[in-house]
Amino acid sequence: MAEDKNNLRTPIVCVMGHVDHGKTTLLDQIRGTRIVKGEAGAITQHIGATEVPIDIIVEKCGDKRLADKFIVPGLLFIDTPGHHAFTTLRSRGGSLADLAVVVVDINEGFKPQTIESLNILKRFKTPFIVVTNKIDRIQGWKVHQGESFLSTYKKQTPEVQALFEQKFYDVIGNLYEQGFSADRFDRVTDFQKTLGVIPISGMTGEGIPDVLMILLGLAQRFLESSLHYDINGPGVGTVLEVKEEKGLGTTIDVILYDGTLRKGDTVVIGCLGEPIVTKIRALLKPRELSEIRYESKFQPIPEITAAAGVKISAPDIENALAGAPIISTTPETLNGVIERVKSEIDDVQIQTDVD
Ligand code: GDP
Repeated sequence: MAEDKNNLRTPIVCVMGHVDHGKTTLLDQIRGTRIVKGEAGAITQHIGATEVPIDIIVEKCGDKRLADKFIVPGLLFIDTPGHHAFTTLRSRGGSLADLAVVVVDINEGFKPQTIESLNILKRFKTPFIVVTNKIDRIQGWKVHQGESFLSTYKKQTPEVQALFEQKFYDVIGNLYEQGFSADRFDRVTDFQKTLGVIPISGMTGEGIPDVLMILLGLAQRFLESSLHYDINGPGVGTVLEVKEEKGLGTTIDVILYDGTLRKGDTVVIGCLGEPIVTKIRALLKPRELSEIRYESKFQPIPEITAAAGVKISAPDIENALAGAPIISTTPETLNGVIERVKSEIDDVQIQTDVD
């Protein structure tokens, strides 16, 4: 429904998996799709995240008719794969990510962090897909840069296809052992019952159009109700990292998933003791590459609306906790917000103790 378009925020996507299986390469490939400065609909770099607008995804998938089919504005990929905030801490009773991608090297199969990622997603009930990465390393594989999986697969020799099938079904077997019914994405009819697995190469971009399409489909089907947000409501987010920045002192990188944050807003931030109550001194986004004449890498902005990644400079935030909530407040709502932040932190600690 077109009139719903502006009420849905961008789903937040986290990329997880074992070290060296290709999380960073996949994100770089998605980022590199088209970063044309100043062009409408170009990919936007956030603090800690990359936003891929719907137009680019549709273009990448090569079917313009899809534009009307999807009502989410795009996808926001979290940059720091396997970040602490996603693995041990939680917000909104689940992981910060709305969706996830688990990367498995098709030539190596499952590793401890693959299983750990699956367990976290299972616990949080986060909809996700698995990608079997590095298909270009299969012996004899002919690369077709950036094509959909089925398109490149059809152009491989029967020997290469057989080799692929063998490795691919080993991964399906691994998933089965972990309690997942899984199949190649194009054979899945109900993504709620069967986990979709997409063969890709983060290096050559093969299968990437499929990844973007399936993620959009999942967002549309399973998340619609949770993606409604209140643009005029208080800003609600999760602290990704607490960082010293030259000239700025301590800053926090935040993923905002609801409402709007403004410079000067009072915010409550979770930490191990009493929540921090402070005022936003500056909201910062990364500076465009063309503006390197400025000394700082960051550019101040007056306000920011979900979903987005932003750096916040504020007094007294040294003890802020990665993974903790941050919520803006008025004097009238302050006590209630402090209680809400406290109870989320208690949940986090219980969760961490259990792990
Ligand atoms: P991460 O630790 O999961 O972020 O893994 P990286 O993205 O850093 O990848 C680890 C190594 O695998 C790097 O040397 C990458 O160049 C390589 N790599 C990642 N994806 C692919 C792929 O699809 N094909 C090939 N041939 N190499 C890949």
